[in-house]
Amino acid sequence: MTETDPRLAELAALNAELQAHDQRYYAAAAPTVSDAEYDDLKDRYERLADELGVPLTERHQSTPGSDHSDGFQTVRHDQPMLSLEKANTEADAFVREGEDVAINDLPDDREFRKRTSWGKLEIWERARRKELDLSIAAPLSLVIEPKIDGMSVSLMYDRGQLVRAVTRGDGIEGDVITAQVRESGAVPLTISEQHKFEVRGELYLPHAAFTALNAELSAAGEKLLVNPRNGCAGLMKRKDAEVLRGKGVQSFIYFIPPGLHVMPLPTTQTERLAWLKKQGFSVHHGTTTVNGMEAAYAACLAYTVQRALLDHDIDGMVIKLDDTTTYNRFGETEHHPRWGIAYKFPPERRSTLLRAITIQVGKTGRLTPVAELDPVFIAGSTVSRASLHNFAEIAAKDIRVGDTVIVQKAGEIIPQVVAVDKSKRTTTASAIAWPTECPTCGTAVVVERRPDPSGKENVSHFCPNFACADQVRERLRHFAARDAMDIRGLGPAVVDVLVSYCQITRPDQLFHLTAEQLAGLSLEADVNDKRRTFGQKSADNLIAALAGAKAQGLAKVLAGLSISGLGTKLSDDFAARFGSWDALHAFAVAYIAGDRHAVLSIRKQQKREEQMEAAALGVVPMSGVDETTADNVFHQLVSPAIVAVLKGLEAVGVDLTAKQIVTAAKAGVAGKTFVLTGSMPTWSRSEAESAIKAAGGKTSGSVSKKTDYVVAGSEAGSKLEKAQALGVHVIDEAQLKVLLSS
Ligand code: AMP
Ligand code: ZN
Repeated sequence: MTETDPRLAELAALNAELQAHDQRYYAAAAPTVSDAEYDDLKDRYERLADELGVPLTERHQSTPGSDHSDGFQTVRHDQPMLSLEKANTEADAFVREGEDVAINDLPDDREFRKRTSWGKLEIWERARRKELDLSIAAPLSLVIEPKIDGMSVSLMYDRGQLVRAVTRGDGIEGDVITAQVRESGAVPLTISEQHKFEVRGELYLPHAAFTALNAELSAAGEKLLVNPRNGCAGLMKRKDAEVLRGKGVQSFIYFIPPGLHVMPLPTTQTERLAWLKKQGFSVHHGTTTVNGMEAAYAACLAYTVQRALLDHDIDGMVIKLDDTTTYNRFGETEHHPRWGIAYKFPPERRSTLLRAITIQVGKTGRLTPVAELDPVFIAGSTVSRASLHNFAEIAAKDIRVGDTVIVQKAGEIIPQVVAVDKSKRTTTASAIAWPTECPTCGTAVVVERRPDPSGKENVSHFCPNFACADQVRERLRHFAARDAMDIRGLGPAVVDVLVSYCQITRPDQLFHLTAEQLAGLSLEADVNDKRRTFGQKSADNLIAALAGAKAQGLAKVLAGLSISGLGTKLSDDFAARFGSWDALHAFAVAYIAGDRHAVLSIRKQQKREEQMEAAALGVVPMSGVDETTADNVFHQLVSPAIVAVLKGLEAVGVDLTAKQIVTAAKAGVAGKTFVLTGSMPTWSRSEAESAIKAAGGKTSGSVSKKTDYVVAGSEAGSKLEKAQALGVHVIDEAQLKVLLSS
């Protein structure tokens, strides 16, 4: 491996991509890829890292990047909030039916054991004993606590009052969420201890509260939450803190950072938890204290039974040294404290029958095989379908129709077929053949073979027909999605109806729809077989949302085109660099024509001669686009089909220029502070916020004397009352728009 090994750049790119996904998953609580896609990426990264001999400590960690959200005040933690080292069993090591096996059932092979949870715990224990100068037989008191799958929080108390609550943030700095925590009722607001001190714990949403929240969202026609953790994270970042009242957020407190308290405290974690409980904090009832790691591992395995009975999610157990006097002495690595380690439960696995393999056609034409399964209950829900990723994977795993397969949920969300239980194979079916034509439109399939960085060949099948009905539908769904044009009221079901009954095939055609046309449309039949019509109100709302979307700007339009390789990140880059569709298109034409200036300025990973050529031509290379992606993206950007869509969008008045942060300061808005409350007739809160920012104004989450305007929508809460009490100007959406156009 040399300094210029191109694989290093590939590794760095994969790392950056993983981090971007982490950020969206943890911070925005809005993942943009499925867990399976994330895992594929992570696999590629790990394989390459293995190949390059990157030490484990320097590799990408799938831990929260930062949970910071705009509009929240940030503060620095007195002591960083770190993640924990993890002991989990590698995918193909010793797991039966989704459970780690007992120590005695593990084979003796040392290398194999190291790949299991037990092996990792064993190594951790040895290292700690060595540091503590304890023989392997000496007693070592360990505390085992359920690892609550929620949102970590730091709470500061002073003179018996909760004075501050802060999220983990990036571990160094977090967002202040004191008002949200107070309103939530999740932690005691007053306690008897008068000294100033900090505690840390987890906020979480119990299952019943999660179900209720989703029922509310569903009734309002909004997107459902994927899991309680995301639900909790979303709630705690609501700027209108009063909505948290009665939502049922709860907490478990488990930690007093060492060295940050002035009052004397017990010196074991066991006694500290008892002390916390006496102060009125909620401490997890599943906590136990044992001697030595073997007993700790047994306790972790045994807890899987209780886990199923809990009213909240846990994703593992945390094993901590009981003696807290060791904590400061041990210190920590950059990522983890040394006094604790997390045992992660293996993903739950069940076996079931694979009835059939169907094929889905995606927005870019990619054909994905899907396993149709006998319904089976896994990790909280019934699974009857699982993506098989691609046809090569089916062949590699030798999956046949009629097989009994082992299914698990990756990241507890996305069902995956792990393997075939060959002992149960009765089928005479042979391996399934690769498709030769698109199941939807019958067009001959194109096979694409691309080596991944490790040299392994990835085989994908595509339907090349841009007019293929499935592709059309998926592209329109994607165009309207949150990451793209974010058109409220244009969900998948509505798109399906528009495709079937309004002959819509291209995004620009959406903007020609009229409210009259929409109002009379009948939606799919409900459970009682009653057909609902779209209705006047929904029709008006959708027309308004479409009109609003015209101002989204170039980046969102590009991200909405469903061009493979052109995701949100690259779309943002393109918009920032080219400024307009016309400039981008001209560049794409030059690139395709082989214009050296264009080619050299866009590609990363250039050879030395190319670097010199670029320097001679005075080209400033743009980072981030590898050759294959660039070739593919620019080819598509000049294709007649895409050009027609953009012409159409331009004709209906969609803005094809890049949005600047402050597009144009507006006298009535610049420098002024706005607080938004309640829901507005046409704008979402984030749309209003970005419009205010674009005009040079600020937004804030709470009303004070410094607030210039409160923009109140319907069901405005306590902020409106406060504004009235303080004599702050209250305006509505229409008045805001007047200010913005002044
Ligand atoms: P991870 O983020 O997966 O690395 O795990 C570390 C996080 O687990 C901590 O930051 C806490 O938010 C969380 N956690 C949940 N329960 C516990 C517990 N009992 N002790 C310590 N950390 C916990
Ligand atoms: Zn097709």
